[in-house]
Amino acid sequence: MQVRSFMTDMILFELEDVVGKENVSTNLTELRVYSVDYFWLSRMWQDRGGVGPLPDVVVRPGCTEEVSKVLKIANYYKIPVHTWGGGSGSQGGALPMAGGILLDMKRMNHLINIDENSHSITAEAGMIFQQLEWYANEKGYSCMHIPSCLTCGTIGGALGHRGIGIFSSKYGKIDDQCMSMEIVLPNGDIINTLPVPKHAAGPDLNQIFIGSEGTLGIITKATFRLFEQPECRKHRAFMFPSMKDGLEAGRDIMNKVQPSIMRLFDEAETVSIIKKIIGVEEKGNFMNFTLEGIERIVDIEMEIAMEICKKHGGRDMGSEYGEKWFENRITFFYPDNIMDIPQMFGTMDTVADFEHIEKIYWAMKNAIETNFPDVKFIAHCSHWYGWGTMIYDRFILNKVPEDKEEALRLHNEIWNTGVRAAMENGGVINDHHGIGLKLSRLMKEQYGPAFQVFEGLKKELDPNGIMNPYKLGL
Ligand SMILES: Cc1cc2nc3c(=O)[nH]c(=O)nc-3n(C[C@H](O)[C@H](O)[C@H](O)COP(=O)(O)OP(=O)(O)OC[C@H]3O[C@@H](n4cnc5c(N)ncnc54)[C@H](O)[C@@H]3O)c2cc1C
Repeated sequence: MQVRSFMTDMILFELEDVVGKENVSTNLTELRVYSVDYFWLSRMWQDRGGVGPLPDVVVRPGCTEEVSKVLKIANYYKIPVHTWGGGSGSQGGALPMAGGILLDMKRMNHLINIDENSHSITAEAGMIFQQLEWYANEKGYSCMHIPSCLTCGTIGGALGHRGIGIFSSKYGKIDDQCMSMEIVLPNGDIINTLPVPKHAAGPDLNQIFIGSEGTLGIITKATFRLFEQPECRKHRAFMFPSMKDGLEAGRDIMNKVQPSIMRLFDEAETVSIIKKIIGVEEKGNFMNFTLEGIERIVDIEMEIAMEICKKHGGRDMGSEYGEKWFENRITFFYPDNIMDIPQMFGTMDTVADFEHIEKIYWAMKNAIETNFPDVKFIAHCSHWYGWGTMIYDRFILNKVPEDKEEALRLHNEIWNTGVRAAMENGGVINDHHGIGLKLSRLMKEQYGPAFQVFEGLKKELDPNGIMNPYKLGL
């Protein structure tokens, strides 16, 4: 015990030497801050008096070189490293499951460059995304990555989980918007991906690290595309008799015009959340969409989108509800509006092509409602692609077992049931929240033998297995 304490202090001294004594903490209250993210299980565990996973030490690096030196120390002593951005992830991705070092990136929050010629912006990865957007706005641009976690998620967290913002259907996901990155590898080497995202110089390094959830390296800087602010934004809402009609309309819209926002809500969500937040009283499957850009083009696109909706049985509800949705765009899904602890809830965002998506919706709904009769299932499609869309299906349970171990098992059973129903019908287990700890156990089921590609990368880049253990199925 004495030897361990002696050794611990020797290592702490080395860490302090790199980042400064004031940026290293073993204070128990501070350590406990990092045992909870937005993963329901971590919150429930804390709520019921349990102690969540604790790091041994919190380290706050101030620059890339410091990250590199910390990783060299961690590698030498084989100490686990968990990278923490804003801690707003819903998958337990940043939780320090193996103890060791918790690397809080938020001191690395500096703007590096705005290149108006190339329409790009570069910043350190610990910056909260809202800050990056403010810098872009000052020059008249937008990054067009506007998620509901804009004010609490960092650049590193968005890249780590392959996040998405509300304007995705026109401007893409974070993996479409990121041009290049600086990364510190587990051995401490500092690397850069190629300066432009489109090339034929081998596989795309960006796409190996985006979505790797801190398991292959630490993103320290990133360059994103800048978009011009649209001349106008126009909104519209329709009510569809069924999800099938709404999905068909959505597919046709995506293949003829390019809305920035398009949401299709199932009846259960229309009569609950849509009614509560934007005041729609009718039953049906509510859809809102937004078209934006040069006004002359937007007007033509609007005409086409409206024709498509009517062709598929949609009833025009005018622009007012679309505008109301837009006013609530960031806070729409905030816990207070929908559900929160002590309720049990989860968001199974599943993505699939148009051929499979409706079947997946019904399979997940039936699997959850049949196996867990007390669970409420609501769903909507948020983000659309030319080939398919995602279902943001939520389960909500009001009466949760008091015993925390029992609650954990029930939570995981509901997830397994829903996600397996999606996979069995051609769905992919996640669109933009990531895998983290929550879905880690299902990664091999999702990928089958293809998973060995990730395992190979992991073994090569992180032979000591120090980077964010137990996440991403690794
Ligand atoms: C109210 C609310 C609304 C949300 N809305 C959205 C939404 O609209 N769209 C969306 O995509 N998500 C949303 N989320 C989920 C979450 O906010 C995102 O996943 C977000 O991008 C996480 O960022 P973070 O900085 O908080 O990451 P963290 O939770 O701190 O970390 C997430 C993962 O990224 C890794 N990571 C963090 N920084 C780095 C880095 N520098 N290098 C390598 N790995 C790193 C961590 O190790 C972890 O695995 C929402 C969450 C909440 C609470």
